[in-house]
Amino acid sequence: MATVTCKYCGKKFDRNKEAYVQIPLGKTFRYGHGQCYLDAVNSQKEKETYTVWDPSKSTTCFWCHQAIYPNQPDVIQMPQLKDRYVHKKCNETHPQDDKDELMLYIIKLYGLKDDYMLPRFMLQLSDFEKQYNFSYSGMLKALKYWYEVKKNPVNKNYGLGIIPRIYKQAYDHYYALWLAQEQNKTKNLNDYIPKDIVVTIKPPKRQIEKRQLFTFLDDEEEEYGNK
Ligand SMILES: [Zn+2]
Ligand SMILES: [Zn+2]
Repeated sequence: MATVTCKYCGKKFDRNKEAYVQIPLGKTFRYGHGQCYLDAVNSQKEKETYTVWDPSKSTTCFWCHQAIYPNQPDVIQMPQLKDRYVHKKCNETHPQDDKDELMLYIIKLYGLKDDYMLPRFMLQLSDFEKQYNFSYSGMLKALKYWYEVKKNPVNKNYGLGIIPRIYKQAYDHYYALWLAQEQNKTKNLNDYIPKDIVVTIKPPKRQIEKRQLFTFLDDEEEEYGNK
């Protein structure tokens, strides 16, 4: 209960239940019914402009969980989720870690109602972290592997129990990708450098220079091989 008196009609009302305007008066505030204020504006009895807050539209900031109204000046729609609002300052500092990223991914993956993360999902995640020593970024990669790489359908009736069953598989997949990438790195280096030399070196010297370069690269390759 937050009982206040309407400046316009003089009646008491609960501003936690009815739309209202907040009117600065020195260091405190006066209040008015949202409708009384709009009527006063329409009949030109009220010349000032105030924001009408509607408690039925109140929500919580996705990141700090404090109550907010979508039309507050320091509140914006979340760039990542269409149905959620955040403080501007919270938006600047988030997402700040792997846990945030994983949470956003799961909400979108499951199409969770009004973009609210289910507490039981959060519990599952922290369970996996403790029980299996999984990292949040590892769990995110596991889900991406299962649903984006393997293209499995999302069953909204199930929780996140799939994660422990696919974690190793996903790890192996990304490790193989990483290995291939590392191998390509050295391959690209071999392809790239000789071409560059051919372009910049004058024809008479070319054969000798090129042979020297290849010898150099062959030595390099042997070194890689021995590691
Ligand atoms: Zn009123
Ligand atoms: Zn916030």
